[in-house]
Amino acid sequence: MRKRLVLFPLPLQGHQTPMLQLANILYSKGFSISIIHTQYNAPNSEINPHFTFHPIPNSLSQCETYSKEDVIRLIIKLNALLVAPFRDLLAGIVSDENAANKEPVACLITDAMWYFTQDVADNLNLPRIVLRTSNAACFYAFFYCPVFKYKGYLSAKGSELEAEVPEFPPLKMKDIPIHGTPDPEQTYELVCAMIEKTKASSGLILNTFQQLELTSLSAIRKAIPPIPIFAIGPFHKQVPASSSSLFAPDQSCISWLNVQAPNSVLYVSFGSIAAIEMKEFTEIALGLANSKQPFLWVVRPGLVRCSDGNDPLPSGFMEMVAERGRVVKWAPQQEVLAHPAVGGFWTHTGWNSTLESICEGVPMLCLPCFGDQMINARYVTDVWKVGFRFEDQLRRDDVEKVIRRLMVDKEGQEMRQKMTSLKEKACLSKEPGGPSYSSLESLVAHISSFSMKGQLLLFLTH
Ligand code: UDP
Repeated sequence: MRKRLVLFPLPLQGHQTPMLQLANILYSKGFSISIIHTQYNAPNSEINPHFTFHPIPNSLSQCETYSKEDVIRLIIKLNALLVAPFRDLLAGIVSDENAANKEPVACLITDAMWYFTQDVADNLNLPRIVLRTSNAACFYAFFYCPVFKYKGYLSAKGSELEAEVPEFPPLKMKDIPIHGTPDPEQTYELVCAMIEKTKASSGLILNTFQQLELTSLSAIRKAIPPIPIFAIGPFHKQVPASSSSLFAPDQSCISWLNVQAPNSVLYVSFGSIAAIEMKEFTEIALGLANSKQPFLWVVRPGLVRCSDGNDPLPSGFMEMVAERGRVVKWAPQQEVLAHPAVGGFWTHTGWNSTLESICEGVPMLCLPCFGDQMINARYVTDVWKVGFRFEDQLRRDDVEKVIRRLMVDKEGQEMRQKMTSLKEKACLSKEPGGPSYSSLESLVAHISSFSMKGQLLLFLTH
């Protein structure tokens, strides 16, 4: 009989997408899948008709865009609000397994940010595995946050923020993911809860691969030795392309890309949450226009703070760039990055975007906004050396110059070559014999061992 897994994604694009990809990977390994979800940002059940979906009743249902100001508050609020309804729903699914022909639930898999689910799982005697949707380096930096606090790094200000973190090269103080959040104390509490409850779990899954992050993975394995860690990424290369997008992608940009020269287009997107000031937005727009490079730019509603639904583009911008520029509200990003016309990606370095870029061999311009994006950007520029980063205030002249360095100059071409090698490693890691493939096999064996333990318990108690 098939075993059932219950998965619970965080209702944000960058978290929900990898959780649904993981669900499809595990489905392909013979597990049945139940998805518990909030009504807020509910996943589209029609895209995955082979899963069973369980909305949590009365869970935050308003559909608004959360900016970085709100997102930490939203997560903390949901962790408190959902305890009872989640427990009741999960208990119902688990007890349902006792009905004739129902599949036993082997374990619960939840986003690391759902720290409240560890106690719920413990009370139901159900093993919980954690999916952390950032990379290994970020998880390790979060693990280190109490040390950063003890050393006073969390109160670094001004020029101190440019200093390197002695215990964590090549991170700078400003890269510590607590800095730059609206309420650092609250963010710190969230991070500590996330780490503590991950340590109490039965395993940690990361959407990364060993050749990319060997050092960070070894460091985490040393730091939390009792927890098995499964680096089984890149997820999106192991499942058929299907959109779990919370916004409708504008496919018309693909026909525009089809008529552009190879490697000529800069794709610009800052993900689903990041918000920037109008002043920065204008510098980006004019830098793009002055660079004379073709570009495809995602200007999502809510990207520009306080734009109140008005078109934030400078007046006359589209006439100025004419056929050389394309602006959309949301793009089919994986398809765009895989397109031969795309030669660079200006990104906020969310982990999904960074990994998708690596998997297509596209070098990056990094404009991290907050949280793990700061660390991802540091690794892109200083460790993998496949991108440039805007370290200071955005100015249109610098934007223009750096775009040309990436898209036209020799430096950019060298980065593209390095990227090709990373792309090959990403691709090989999931093939039989590759580390992500082996790690996935271990994960499946680990989950199967839970259900055997469960059966043994059932046998002994009858
Ligand atoms: N994305 C997309 N179209 C867009 C912009 C983003 O499909 O126009 C997808 C992108 O492929 C990625 C996700 O949205 O999978 C963004 O996740 P990421 O971790 O990069 O950033 P977040 O939105 O969480 O800040």
